[in-house]
Amino acid sequence: MELRIDNLTKTYPNGTQALKGVSLTLGQGMFGLLGPNGAGKSSLMRTLATLQEADSGSATLTTDDGDINVLTDKDAVRRTLGYLPQEFGVYPKVPAEEMLTHFAALKGLSNAKERKETVEYLLNMTNLWDARKKNLGGFSGGMRQRFGIAVALLGNPKLIIVDEPTAGLDPAERNRFHNVLAEVGEKSIVILSTHIVEDVSELCSNMAIINKGEILLQGDPQFAMESLRGSIWKKTIDKHALAEHQAKFHVISNRLVLGKTLIHVLSDAQPEEGFTSVEPDLEDVYFSTINASQETAA
Ligand code: ADP
Repeated sequence: MELRIDNLTKTYPNGTQALKGVSLTLGQGMFGLLGPNGAGKSSLMRTLATLQEADSGSATLTTDDGDINVLTDKDAVRRTLGYLPQEFGVYPKVPAEEMLTHFAALKGLSNAKERKETVEYLLNMTNLWDARKKNLGGFSGGMRQRFGIAVALLGNPKLIIVDEPTAGLDPAERNRFHNVLAEVGEKSIVILSTHIVEDVSELCSNMAIINKGEILLQGDPQFAMESLRGSIWKKTIDKHALAEHQAKFHVISNRLVLGKTLIHVLSDAQPEEGFTSVEPDLEDVYFSTINASQETAA
């Protein structure tokens, strides 16, 4: 199974260039598409989900059944696609099980016994079995997202696209959602678009960083972290000293910790007395990549 995206471009009628020649190759498993707000993630996801047209480029999905041209053969894509959009409406007064059964019928599961088994399987898998009689209107954000995944999984899709699924979820709900996704990733190509670095570090064996419509980095997150080993330095400073440090060093991130500011600096050698070396994490990869692209642009 493979999804190959080549040189995809998209400019909206107002002139915003959302995708500037995006090329990516994805295999089976969880693929993380990481980027800040406005990077072009949804534009790419909507294009792959056949909901909007690209201006140029190509996308091909290869499965055991052959090749599908994602941009032109929309019906074939839709038959094998599970899409969880950023926002989706639910009928608040309908119980989860009833709604899922209804969607299953719409998806072509016409055999009642098979339909019941599939609905039971998906409710269990998404950890919603105990809540199956509850109206969707009473679901928490996390439960709604898991219900969305159950709907997206109807019909055994080979390509699953989830667009910013964990935004707004509390840590426990995010955890539960991650567990569901990890299971889904075993059988299909899953693209997880997110601006949350932990979503990718906890789940994805392959990833890309996108910013301003361009792919800045693609590969194994582990490898990306290792390539920074020895180059990330930390120091805790007074928050008023941040600007001075930013002027002097290549500060890739800063965060307040107990009233002090913890900075991470990118440097081949110890920048100065007082800095200690840290094991790079994916956040360091993310911020150093995004910062480097902004400097090139400036
Ligand atoms: P992300 O999902 O990474 O936040 P988007 O793909 O939504 O990014 O947006 C990429 C860029 O395209 C942003 O500058 C955004 O404002 C712009 N954009 C998105 N959708 C539209 C649209 N329908 N019309 C015009 N501009 C859009």
